[in-house]
Amino acid sequence: MKTSDLFAKKTVFSFEVFPPKRDMPISSMYDTLAALSQLQPDFISVTCGANGQGSNRTAEVASLIKNTYHCETVAHMPCLYLTEDEALRTLQELKEIGVENILALRGDETAGEIPVGRFHHASDLVAFIKEQAPQFNISGACYPESHLESKTMAADIQNLKKKVDAGVSELISQLFFDNEMFYRFLERTQIAGIHVPIEAGIMPVTNQKQIERMVTLCGATLPIKFQRIIAKYGSDSKTLREAGIAYAIDQIVDLLANGVDGIHVYTMNSPYIAKRITEAIKPLL
Ligand code: FAD
Repeated sequence: MKTSDLFAKKTVFSFEVFPPKRDMPISSMYDTLAALSQLQPDFISVTCGANGQGSNRTAEVASLIKNTYHCETVAHMPCLYLTEDEALRTLQELKEIGVENILALRGDETAGEIPVGRFHHASDLVAFIKEQAPQFNISGACYPESHLESKTMAADIQNLKKKVDAGVSELISQLFFDNEMFYRFLERTQIAGIHVPIEAGIMPVTNQKQIERMVTLCGATLPIKFQRIIAKYGSDSKTLREAGIAYAIDQIVDLLANGVDGIHVYTMNSPYIAKRITEAIKPLL
């Protein structure tokens, strides 16, 4: 099923997973995928390494989700290091295993590796897929606190509009911890004429290292309430995990009460976290 059909009829609830590291077999994910799909999310998306070399693993995991665990899936497809031929091969592979949905991404430059292809922005890949394989449903990424490379939020939203106009049918947001930022972003997208569904990306924070990494990678604002939780529970990993889950649930309840189009949980491949969140919020969906 195309995820755009889901957004057309309900508030979507989805998970994100990443494939196992290269030295681990795909079978190491069986239990995780079985447990996540039992929670019956609307779809599970699968990340892909920015240099495109992990696309086979992404396809393998997406195939498991779709064909073994019978849950809808979205394959992430970063394009910065893809040639047109490689992009066509990836699309063919996804088609053969029955994947219908792609999250078209630019990805980030790897230090020392010069991008090879002609895809400079995600919108270039979106246009390419629309032209070469229009049967796919395409989603894109968006940034409630602006993409780190954008000089202004206004410029980032203008670029987002170009991506949507190229053929994106829904957007999934970068993680954020302050819902007010997300609501302001939604207003800005409306003003800019972006009218596709926008799913809110929620990452339950469960350890201190993860927080530092997230702030460096995506520049998410940490509200005072959140900082107090880290200050109080940061040194005790079990307690921090529980506090992180509670914070995420609180965020999601507020987002649902405000009528968001969907909730995308960055599960970090943890069925425990996904289960706790799902049990708390499923009655509200
Ligand atoms: P783009 O949409 O191309 O935007 C990147 C920057 O370029 C922005 O600053 C934008 O304003 C600017 N820009 C866009 N179009 C133009 C234009 N036409 N002219 C000038 N400037 C322009 N990365 C991975 O490697 N693998 C993953 O699986 C993955 N999954 C993700 C999932 C989600 C939900 C999100 C939010 C991000 C994910 N990322 C992933 C990270 C993503 O690849 C990076 O954030 C990357 O820096 C930007 O990707 P993008 O697709 O948003 O890029």
